Amino acid sequence: MGANLSYEYAEECFQKFAKAVPLPEHTIEKIEKGVTPYRRPPYSFVGDGFVALGDSACITKPFSGEGIACTWILCDIAAKVAAAAMQNGNYPTKQRLWDINTQYMRSQGADFANLLATLIGAVDCTAEENEYEFKKDIVFNSEDMSKMNREFAAKLSTPEILRLVSKIAGGLLTANIRFKTVKALLKAVMTAGALEKHYKAYPESPEGFDKWVTKSDKLWKKAGTMADRITKTRE
Ligand SMILES: Cc1cc2nc3c(=O)[nH]c(=O)nc-3n(C[C@H](O)[C@H](O)[C@H](O)COP(=O)(O)OP(=O)(O)OC[C@H]3O[C@@H](n4cnc5c(N)ncnc54)[C@H](O)[C@@H]3O)c2cc1C
Repeated sequence: MGANLSYEYAEECFQKFAKAVPLPEHTIEKIEKGVTPYRRPPYSFVGDGFVALGDSACITKPFSGEGIACTWILCDIAAKVAAAAMQNGNYPTKQRLWDINTQYMRSQGADFANLLATLIGAVDCTAEENEYEFKKDIVFNSEDMSKMNREFAAKLSTPEILRLVSKIAGGLLTANIRFKTVKALLKAVMTAGALEKHYKAYPESPEGFDKWVTKSDKLWKKAGTMADRITKTRE
């Protein structure tokens, strides 16, 4: 069971799930709990003689919260940049390590920013809409999921986009998906696209950082967070 907010809320979700889906006969033998950061990573991972990696850098897949394989992308970049920064006995200053930020943010960082912002809008549906989306393979298309898992990004080809749009249009016409839901999804997709573009323009040196952060803050404010959506729904 995975959920935002708290262990208590995860248990609440499990009770809802158990009510909606009949579970096979079972006995609970052990319960384990743990946390993983589900939020956008910090805008910079480096300092003087310092780099944040893994969960401490909030590197988890936006569609599942898994953090192991995807953090190796940042580790790989960090190892190469840090090795070069420390050549000839040099101290790895923030300036010398900055390329870790630039390389990561412009690649997986941009893809994850897009995915995280898209999902905030995509999951904001009623249970009935979710049911329809599962049935029609709209949001949780198994092909898309395995592609996302391989590439850690949701890059759809033009025919795939057209297929998805026609399925959503079908849902609207048959009143299985509300206009409000499609509007929220479109808004999320637009903000997500703007975030991806902005992350791909991550500054090459600390000089352009403050300006980049100001725009990032504005875009993330527009995107909102998954936890905010849940809190709003529960009120
Ligand atoms: C229930 C659950 C299921 C998950 N399932 C998956 C999955 O299927 N696939 C996947 O990819 N990811 C999964 N994750 C996420 C994954 O476990 C984490 O993203 C990953 O372990 C992060 O690795 P890390 O090395 O950054 O941090 P951690 O694994 O948390 O390691 C940090 C270490 O630092 C130690 N530490 C903390 N403070 C100090 C200190 N002051 N001094 C010394 N040591 C300290 C801690 O004890 C810990 O050993 C799951 C997470 C949870 C909670």
